Amino acid sequence: MSLQAITDAIANGKMICPKCQGPIKKYDKYAATIDAVRDGFNVIDIDSHGERVTLICGNDGCEWKERTEYPMEYVAD
Ligand SMILES: [Zn+2]
Repeated sequence: MSLQAITDAIANGKMICPKCQGPIKKYDKYAATIDAVRDGFNVIDIDSHGERVTLICGNDGCEWKERTEYPMEYVAD
């Protein structure tokens, strides 16, 4: 899931907090999954796979947040 898709899902209120059932308001990106391959002394190839984000509910009275590699699980059908 791309960051753009996450942003769109949140903007459209489709990402749902499992605690209060309200729409999740925001996210923070915390790290991409990175495979670094050292080839020789100075050459490093880096590939990025997927996105890890911290989803933050942000609704009044709800402290829910979750780090996940699978933010699609929180998108309502
Ligand atoms: Zn919530």
